[in-house]
Amino acid sequence: SQTILDVHELRKYYPVGQGWLPGSGRRSVKALDDVTFTLDKGETLAVVGESGCGKSTLGRTILRFVEPSGGNVWLDGHRITEMAGREMRRLRRQMQVVFQDPAASLSPRMRVRDIVAEPLRNYGLVSGRAAIAERVGDLLEQVGLPRDAGERYPHEFSGGQRQRIAIARALAPGPDLLICDEAVSALDVSSKAQIVNLLADLQRRLGLAILFISHDLAVVEHIADRIAVMYLGRIVELADRTTLFAAPAHPYTQALLSAVLDPNPVRKRQRIALKGEVPSPIDPPAGCHFHTRCPYAFERCRSEPPVLAQRAPGQVAACHLEALPG
Ligand code: SF4
Ligand code: MG
Repeated sequence: SQTILDVHELRKYYPVGQGWLPGSGRRSVKALDDVTFTLDKGETLAVVGESGCGKSTLGRTILRFVEPSGGNVWLDGHRITEMAGREMRRLRRQMQVVFQDPAASLSPRMRVRDIVAEPLRNYGLVSGRAAIAERVGDLLEQVGLPRDAGERYPHEFSGGQRQRIAIARALAPGPDLLICDEAVSALDVSSKAQIVNLLADLQRRLGLAILFISHDLAVVEHIADRIAVMYLGRIVELADRTTLFAAPAHPYTQALLSAVLDPNPVRKRQRIALKGEVPSPIDPPAGCHFHTRCPYAFERCRSEPPVLAQRAPGQVAACHLEALPG
């Protein structure tokens, strides 16, 4: 296997408060706090967590839609965190994104064929009307749409079909990495399953790496090879899918899993409920950020931040407990 994406101690801090509150001048939200992981070619890594955990910021920072405050990202061996201008533009072709809301990301006044052709023209990948039309037709077919869908406008399609159009556009520049940010979250149950199957199929055929950002563990279970669980800007557990679902090592992962409806009684788990809301990221709890909601918190958790450590082959977690009770 070959690493396509290497994220090392990535940080994104947003300053908060303009000094209008006493002592607030130098505070910051640590949206990403030393996030480290790698992603191999042809692999799907899901990033899960509640809203505000930093998972969307992670995707946007990798894409350089927002600038990191520190750390590094390598795409296919190139350090993109230091790149500017033309060099970055060339490399951006290799990573494409699909967002949650295709209605917002597809221009309503453009025909589908022009939407899908835009990256082909922008990157100068295909030239000549006939060749572009041919390539657009292939891309539409690849995502399960008829070739003549290109003649129509986005609003003439259902939500699931519009997401197929967004995927066709993302595939047009021939990326190695696809970042899906809640890409199926707005869809109904059956379109959701169809788009997840489409992504899995495209991955097999094209050898794509996928960073699948989602709050939905039920969906993630169908597509992820590995799963990173984030809480208040930090990865608290990273494990392969089977291990994570069968034997989570972090109490937060356990809580997320016990909230997922599980029709399989053999896999019955210790059910733990999450207490309260996610704390404000402006002043996250000291020590383990999760201690205010953790049913197992003890003295040490309130002062000492746990670090990611190996728990099983293919599993790391950041928790002071050696094993979960139950
Ligand atoms: Fe809970 Fe402590 Fe582990 Fe944090 S370090 S998850 S508070 S047991
Ligand atoms: Mg989000």
